[in-house]
Amino acid sequence: MSFPPNISEKALLDCGRCCCICHKFCGFKIELHHIIQKSEGGEDSYENCIPLCLDCHAEVKAYNPKHPKGRKYNESELIGHRNRWYEKVQSKSFLLVHPECIELDRKLFLELKKVLPVTGGSISFIRNHIYGNPWLLEVHEDLVAYRLSCQNPEFEFIDMDLEMRRCQLTESIDQYLKVLYTVSFTVDKVDYKGYMAVYPELKYSKHEVYYQSIKDISNAADKVCATYDDLIRLSRRKLAI
Ligand SMILES: [Zn+2]
Repeated sequence: MSFPPNISEKALLDCGRCCCICHKFCGFKIELHHIIQKSEGGEDSYENCIPLCLDCHAEVKAYNPKHPKGRKYNESELIGHRNRWYEKVQSKSFLLVHPECIELDRKLFLELKKVLPVTGGSISFIRNHIYGNPWLLEVHEDLVAYRLSCQNPEFEFIDMDLEMRRCQLTESIDQYLKVLYTVSFTVDKVDYKGYMAVYPELKYSKHEVYYQSIKDISNAADKVCATYDDLIRLSRRKLAI
């Protein structure tokens, strides 16, 4: 058994879907860790639960008392991390209050718009393109540039709401690029066997696989535009830019 839905929901709300140790926003890449392990009598209770990112969770679990390396996260320390973070989220003290932070986020917003402009780049292309018609993949060079920028740790908003929107945009771009490179846009070239290997339950014909590919890419494209628009709108409101 893992944590029941009411407890996991409360924990996820209280941490704002951020890791209680490193405080980064995780979106769906978050896990609920038992502070006292179930094998040692730990319960599926709110008190015994700490939300962690995948990296911190792996680290907390990796410590091997038989081969001690580094310092173990003990139970009371984990409780301390969690309680301090829950308090911070509740008090909203992580929100942007310092003008310097707002200024940093403004700079990042402008940089992000330079990499992924509202018009003249992939975003406006995706918004207006009718999938099924051919096009050159070079048009998406800015999406690749955006993904490269994401490797820079300074390419993150300080404001949590904005950072959450930016993560959602990144996820939707990843999904779009993934679909883009796996689907085929002509019936002749459609990777029928490959597609059916992924979705064996769909008894599709070659034409149906082709149309499904077009649908997949259109849906992924819509998601990119929606997450991009969300980020732009919220940034304008929060940063008055
Ligand atoms: Zn973490």
